[in-house]
Amino acid sequence: MPLPIVAIVGRPNVGKSTLFNRIIRRKQAIVESTPGVTRDRHYAEANWSGVSFTLVDTGGYLPVGEGDELMDSVREQTLIAANEADLIIMMTDAVAGLTDADQELTRIVQKRGCEIMFVANKIDDASRLGMVWEVSLGIGDPYPISALNGYQVGDLLEGMVDRLKELKPVAGSRSDPHELALAVIGAPNSGKSSLVNKLSGEERMIVSDIPGTTRDSVDTVIKYHNRSIRLIDTAGLKRKRYGQRGLEFYSTLRSIRALERCDVAVVLIDGTLGMTQGNIRLINQAVDQGVGVIIGINKWDIVEKDPKTADEWIEKWRWKAPSLKWIPIYFISALTGQRAIRVVEEAFRVKDELNRRISTTEFNDTVVKILSRTPPPAIKGKNVRVKYAAQVTSKPPTFAFFARYADLVPEHYKRFAERIIREQYTFQGVPVRVVFRKK
Ligand code: GDP
Ligand code: GDP
Repeated sequence: MPLPIVAIVGRPNVGKSTLFNRIIRRKQAIVESTPGVTRDRHYAEANWSGVSFTLVDTGGYLPVGEGDELMDSVREQTLIAANEADLIIMMTDAVAGLTDADQELTRIVQKRGCEIMFVANKIDDASRLGMVWEVSLGIGDPYPISALNGYQVGDLLEGMVDRLKELKPVAGSRSDPHELALAVIGAPNSGKSSLVNKLSGEERMIVSDIPGTTRDSVDTVIKYHNRSIRLIDTAGLKRKRYGQRGLEFYSTLRSIRALERCDVAVVLIDGTLGMTQGNIRLINQAVDQGVGVIIGINKWDIVEKDPKTADEWIEKWRWKAPSLKWIPIYFISALTGQRAIRVVEEAFRVKDELNRRISTTEFNDTVVKILSRTPPPAIKGKNVRVKYAAQVTSKPPTFAFFARYADLVPEHYKRFAERIIREQYTFQGVPVRVVFRKK
């Protein structure tokens, strides 16, 4: 079941990011850190009372601009959030009181008929409770909170998960285990719809559109050599009614959903534009989700190139993101179909790898043996020595190394362990997780 999306909306400066960070911090304390690049995120998985959800901060996307433009952008993101999210947290600033913008945003979300919870922020203590009525919006009592110091935020979270538990799961067909669930993600205009159209247009493929598992999503099932491929959320690709800034936000929300349901993600990159920070963020998003990843450098038909260009791309990518060089790169054209089928075949291979299991005996004979010959330097006079390891799960493959002082193992040694695993077993296109545990 995909996680429900909860979006925080409201005009600038009401405290959206503050609340977002407060809720996320609670989560970060209990999650193991994964090695990787630091990145600013405006969405994250959160959990309260055993209920998990994806929290999205709409404010985080605001570009710096003049008042009017700023307001346009908030309005657009609010509209998208109202269409896409399962629950909206509509936030106002009780100290500033109700503004025209608050009322306008409220009308926007109410019109969509989505689940809404109203929050009056900056109620830093009980003495400010009287201010709540300044911003009562005529839709029941807003939750008075202080995002800054946490006052009554627990009550809000309690209320949120109660609402989430009431959400009806959207009926949808279950995917069969032999099917490849493939998500095509990428920046707006990278060629996602073109690739999906190309694949479903191939004569050898039989196409059917079936409802996806979430509100408003449509998957396309195609056949390739008697194997089914479910292209995840193809409806999301066809929607083009948002402006450029909104589109970016829209595709982020859509890709969160798609990544939760797929086995493998093809991240499309517009080859005429080069690799951007946004692309890398999206790739990391897929890696974090633990799905298989393939990079498609698209529009290769119109990229100015000589025989060395592809190699240069790969070189540059390895230099930019050395910890992600296990992701296969294909130079494709969604328009002409060049190498599109190769990507599909690669995706089948990656899916199999994702489910691969390495026997404990073998793993200890190879990877553990190498690691025990090269232990990390002593830390605080303590020697970490890996005694034993085992693959604890697949999809994605996760390996637990048992050692005394496991908590002292430095990040770089975890990356070293991952490198040794990849040297032995390749796992091309597959994120590999490494954890150190006390015996
Ligand atoms: P956003 O634009 O809606 O994301 O707002 P921010 O989270 O950036 O907050 C805007 C300003 O309000 C910052 O200076 C915050 O420190 C402040 N702020 C946020 N929440 C509270 C609160 O609960 N109480 C008080 N007094 N200030 C707050
Ligand atoms: P989406 O927003 O990611 O779904 O991108 P589209 O599939 O709508 O493509 C955006 C634009 O790029 C359209 O004008 C496409 O015709 C064009 N396009 C997509 N793929 C290719 C390609 O491989 N080669 C060329 N030359 N154009 C492409």
